[in-house]
Amino acid sequence: MTQLSATQRDLLCPFCAGQCVFSPAAGALVCESCGEGHAIIVDPAHDPTREFHYDPETPHTEQPVLTEDRVHQCETCGGAVVFTGPALSDRCGYCDGPVVLGGRDERFQALGLIPFRLTEAEAQTRAIDWVRRRLAAPTDLADTVSRARVAGFYVPFFTFDSHEAVDYWARYRTGSGDKARTHSVKGSMSIVFDDLLAPASPHITPMIRDGILHDFNPEDLRPYIPAYLSGFAAEQHHLSVSEGLAANEADKRLLIRNRIKTHINKSRIIDIGYKTHTSGIHYRRILLPVWILHYSYNNTAMKVVVCGMRGRTFGERPFSPFKLAGYSAAISALAIVFGWVWGAAGWF
Ligand SMILES: [Zn+2]
Ligand SMILES: [Zn+2]
Repeated sequence: MTQLSATQRDLLCPFCAGQCVFSPAAGALVCESCGEGHAIIVDPAHDPTREFHYDPETPHTEQPVLTEDRVHQCETCGGAVVFTGPALSDRCGYCDGPVVLGGRDERFQALGLIPFRLTEAEAQTRAIDWVRRRLAAPTDLADTVSRARVAGFYVPFFTFDSHEAVDYWARYRTGSGDKARTHSVKGSMSIVFDDLLAPASPHITPMIRDGILHDFNPEDLRPYIPAYLSGFAAEQHHLSVSEGLAANEADKRLLIRNRIKTHINKSRIIDIGYKTHTSGIHYRRILLPVWILHYSYNNTAMKVVVCGMRGRTFGERPFSPFKLAGYSAAISALAIVFGWVWGAAGWF
């Protein structure tokens, strides 16, 4: 394997001047013409796990940079992706709508990414396995999904660290009937969030996010090098840090409330309020890989999302009305049998 310095311009094979694309199976660039592999050189001084401090009190100095990359904008969902290298697609990875070439990309620079580990064929196998395991799926569904349009692309995420000094108050119930009581409780606790993954784009749906949340390991991060993106699309970072924090505020509130519930340790909590003082915010801008399979069933567009790191799979699927009817008939039959057994045993 020879080495190829990895800038966008250098995605041409030094042997045959063919186009090189990143191969998840090889973990390297592979020439599409002659098949030669070229290792991606990573600068050891470039630490992709480095985090940056963010102080909400002082004006933030991070400025977006205008690049030479041209954005492909989706006409349906508004998703905007940049292609690196040859694999130009005229469809949107998020929704399969048509994309049109727009202006230059103004973005915040990601410093790290996790390269694709799963190949397109492996992603397809995962998706078909996922479909086969669904209860009451139409018989021809696996076949339909095997013909799905597959899009591999990088999506933008933040990781956030913070320290939360939380003062909470809550009410909970005990007893029942005449002995029912409502109690109040107050307390304080501190919470440390480390590498909380937060979507940096409104196009990252919970389905995409969930696959990634399960598979994410910061140790897999590599420096941002265009060679890793060659042959794939990427939605780059367009949100400022404060916009990213605001967009993920609801998720953070949910996490804090759950930690408070665990801390109070009562089963019937009816009301929680809290105030938190947030300090020590650190963030990273990273790109993470997903495969999205687009298929349509009875004219309804559906998708299966396979995480490009370890293959965690989530999706949308139709139900077979015949199989559902079969299951409900079987369940009714069971109910009748159990009813008869209980009746015969004299329990009723
Ligand atoms: Zn070549
Ligand atoms: Zn779209």
